[in-house]
Amino acid sequence: MADRMRIALDVQGMTCDGCAAHVEKALRGVAGVTEAKVPSWRAGRATVVAEASVADEAFVRSVEEAGYRAQVRERRRVQEGQRFVSGGEQYDLMIIGGGSAAFAAAIKGAELGAKVAIVEAGTIGGTCVNIGCVPSKTLIKAAELCYRSAYPKFEGLAACPPPSDWQRVVQQKDELVAALRQGKYVDVMKVYPTVTLIKGQGRLAGGRAVSVNGTAYQPGKILLATGSLPWAPPIPGLAEAGYLDSTQALSLPELPTSLLVIGAGAIGLELGQLFSRFGVRVMIIEAGPHVAGGEEPEIGKALTEYLAGEKIRVCTNVKINRVERRAKEYLIHAEIEGRPETCVAEQLLVATGRRPNTRDFGLTEAGVQTGLRGEIKVNEHLQTSNPEIYAAGDCIGDPMYVYVAAFAGGLAAENALTGAGRVYDLSALPHVVFTDPQVASVGLTDAAARAQGKHVKTSVLSLKDVPRALAARDTRGLFKLVAEEETGKLLGAHILADQAGEVIQAATLAVKFGLRVQDLVETFHPYLTMVEGLKLAALTFEKEVSKLSCCAS
Ligand SMILES: Cc1cc2nc3c(=O)[nH]c(=O)nc-3n(C[C@H](O)[C@H](O)[C@H](O)COP(=O)(O)OP(=O)(O)OC[C@H]3O[C@@H](n4cnc5c(N)ncnc54)[C@H](O)[C@@H]3O)c2cc1C
Repeated sequence: MADRMRIALDVQGMTCDGCAAHVEKALRGVAGVTEAKVPSWRAGRATVVAEASVADEAFVRSVEEAGYRAQVRERRRVQEGQRFVSGGEQYDLMIIGGGSAAFAAAIKGAELGAKVAIVEAGTIGGTCVNIGCVPSKTLIKAAELCYRSAYPKFEGLAACPPPSDWQRVVQQKDELVAALRQGKYVDVMKVYPTVTLIKGQGRLAGGRAVSVNGTAYQPGKILLATGSLPWAPPIPGLAEAGYLDSTQALSLPELPTSLLVIGAGAIGLELGQLFSRFGVRVMIIEAGPHVAGGEEPEIGKALTEYLAGEKIRVCTNVKINRVERRAKEYLIHAEIEGRPETCVAEQLLVATGRRPNTRDFGLTEAGVQTGLRGEIKVNEHLQTSNPEIYAAGDCIGDPMYVYVAAFAGGLAAENALTGAGRVYDLSALPHVVFTDPQVASVGLTDAAARAQGKHVKTSVLSLKDVPRALAARDTRGLFKLVAEEETGKLLGAHILADQAGEVIQAATLAVKFGLRVQDLVETFHPYLTMVEGLKLAALTFEKEVSKLSCCAS
């Protein structure tokens, strides 16, 4: 059989179902085309399978002759014998879970012309929109506004008075969540008529079999996207005492007067600062030597100082012996820096990480292997130990970020449906902790690079040397760059600064495309922007920036 390609086109100008049918017919009329699909006019996409010899120009011309405009977005070889239209099956792809990984997978499947089912047991949209990124970040912003309005110069900090109406803030958060869930998930389903939502608990029943609400399905391929759940360490008394997890904390009916937070990772730090800024007395308790454990130690140390400046008590190297609950308070009996202490507060939040949600839905029966933390084991194509089943998102373990889940979902769907063999590559992956100032990081830390046997040099620049920070009267933070000694290639960038989450994107491009420190120095960075700190940190490898004029380069 002749070599065939699957071609994805962006189509402009369609305004109704009739247009979609029109474009589909035009594409089918091109000599050498064996399949053409326009899943919906709203999506502005078309997929064609054609002999490899058919030029892009032929598709573009046929669409133009039908009265629309088109560009070829992607061309991929079809792997014969691995076509996804699975003779007579009801669904080409069944996805268990209805969060971000699932939606990315479903959209990719629909764009490829597949019939897709999403099986969701809870609320459509999953963690990010309902109980994760969206609600936490909008409350963090509300807390910041409250804090900054009370302390515009935020020097000599004290706790912000509680907002008059915490319930109103939570209600506004709920409204935003509902609107985004509707706009980004529920409405998106309507754009892709080949995607069906099945409400219910999905269970693997061996091979390619899935059962939902007592109905058995035999889809062409299965994708697992079941997410993760909060995890708590086995501290004596903790389970009996009960505690808040992040979901409950973000929807508390009223603010407590005091809060103990176990865990100083991203969620513990973000929520600890959030509640403190709403006037709650907060103590953050961490077992490790510094907060934000995976980050450069300079960043953890500086962040601890800033949090302490906001009257948050941050304790590291803590060994918790026991948790106890009395009438209206929680007690943590601990050793802090080797000394016994009992910490008391009205509420207790446990933020010690999340674990893959992979229990009790038939993984063993289906021959899908899991690792030590319950994560589904996958190969570089996100295929599990059952070749008919793929997995994506938090259920395959760290790193657990929504943009990673979405990337994985799309990639796994494409590999499952077409056998494209795309590789799951997370190099140059940035991440952000949404404290104030923010922590953002990409690439290797100093220690990680040395552990890999690399010869590295580092530069550390205080925000006191960044004009933007001086002008904004907020010099809290630093830039740390890690570069390869011999080549000057940038290996990692680590930032603690206001808007660090925006700045890190420039460093991400530099790490991803192998730029050298000198390339950063020789690139224009607008004056009085925070990203200029990146260039100044690059200059710091050779010069003492504090002694330079603003205009030096
Ligand atoms: C407080 C908090 C803040 C966060 N902030 C950020 C942030 O700022 N940036 C960021 O990138 N990430 C953030 N994250 C992480 C991010 O939310 C997750 O990485 C992402 O949502 C995971 O997507 P997923 O599709 O893998 O899983 P989920 O979105 O969790 O979806 C899994 C879905 O599967 C369903 N399900 C499970 N089992 C079954 C079954 N057997 N049958 C049917 N349905 C099932 C569940 O009901 C759930 O809806 C945050 C997380 C939390 C908790």
